[in-house]
Amino acid sequence: MDFTLAPADEALRLRAEHFAREVLEPRARAADEQACFDREVLALYGASGLLGAQIPRALGGAGLSHLQFALSMIELGAVDSSWRGFGTVQSALCGQLLLANATPAQQQAWLPDLAAGKRIFAYALTEPESGSDVTALATEAVRDGDGWRLNGEKIWITNGGIADVILVFATTDRAAGKRGVSCFAVRGDAAGLTSSRMEGEHLGHRGADHARLRLKDVRATAADLVGPLNDGFKVAMSGLEHGRLGVASGAVGIQLGCFRAVREFLRTRRQFGQRLGDFQLLQKELADMHVRLEATRLLTLRAAATRDAGGDNRHEVSVAKYAACEAAVKSADAAVLLFGSRGYSTTASVGRYLRDAKGLQIYEGTAQIQSLLIGRHLIGRE
Ligand SMILES: Cc1cc2nc3c(=O)[nH]c(=O)nc-3n(C[C@H](O)[C@H](O)[C@H](O)COP(=O)(O)OP(=O)(O)OC[C@H]3O[C@@H](n4cnc5c(N)ncnc54)[C@H](O)[C@@H]3O)c2cc1C
Repeated sequence: MDFTLAPADEALRLRAEHFAREVLEPRARAADEQACFDREVLALYGASGLLGAQIPRALGGAGLSHLQFALSMIELGAVDSSWRGFGTVQSALCGQLLLANATPAQQQAWLPDLAAGKRIFAYALTEPESGSDVTALATEAVRDGDGWRLNGEKIWITNGGIADVILVFATTDRAAGKRGVSCFAVRGDAAGLTSSRMEGEHLGHRGADHARLRLKDVRATAADLVGPLNDGFKVAMSGLEHGRLGVASGAVGIQLGCFRAVREFLRTRRQFGQRLGDFQLLQKELADMHVRLEATRLLTLRAAATRDAGGDNRHEVSVAKYAACEAAVKSADAAVLLFGSRGYSTTASVGRYLRDAKGLQIYEGTAQIQSLLIGRHLIGRE
């Protein structure tokens, strides 16, 4: 076991930190306050090479290891969870799903554009009556000549309103339950597909696009099927394995962002004639933040390294996501209090970190679902 980063990994981490500080940081507050998705950032993200993540260079990707992907997500998450979330959906949830399941022709058609940020991808699983229970999909794909007709509704789909390609999961054989689900690549401008912004002001990830999608007789052909017919549940899970690593890393990033901000604040803000950081009570708060950050960073990098070594890391990913998201909420909550009244306004980033951290606890398998998966694994019930 070697806990130091290899020079190539540290170089990648520095590149991600530079991108986050130079491109994301100056725009993060405005994106949060104005709830807008910035296409200029997308072009810069694509040009940075980071969006290509683990996609092989031969397919236009960056050829990163899973460890390097996690390091990049930590650095982006330390600055802006909306863009970290975009990267997780595009590169991991969709990119890794396509790498594992798409045909060579589909990969050639989609992955170079995905890596360059020239086409936006979305992953559409959740429905009004199918959230944690992903086997209860009401969206249906019914045979129609040599293709299918898709009908149904999807909610909270990240990138759903701006995507060029949406990976839609639909029931193709209702009697077969989760062995009767298939994945279809639907064009964002497909006839019969409409999108609208998810209602209400969102707690966090305000710089991201979250859509409600309605599919009414949307046509799909065999060329749009991703992975084998009726094996869509496995296809969905193959994306989530990687997406959850991105979320765990993002949660470590939120803690890193909070830690950096709080340490600087404790060093400079003075009360009672001393720096706040001179009060032992507040040193303990910083120590607790540091310990949570280091512990969950190691869990997350272990999950990534397990996969790089060729192992099955699903358990390690669930452990990392569960621990890191809980820790992110705790540390962001502490950071808001430590900033005093400043923490209660968007002038400081810590309030945004807290709002974003709640999202990480919910998507790609809630905290309870992760603990169920962990418990099941420990008791021997997969
Ligand atoms: C910001 C954001 C982005 C998202 N992006 C996407 C996306 O890109 N694509 C996509 O498909 N979906 C997306 N989602 C949806 C997300 O994946 C779901 O919200 C999540 O899976 C939970 O489903 P639900 O909201 O229906 O909650 P429910 O499943 O209704 O759960 C409600 C509560 O009950 C708990 N619960 C449920 N079942 C159990 C059980 N068996 N035991 C114990 N507790 C249980 C849950 O943990 C939760 O606390 C996104 C959501 C958010 C907030």
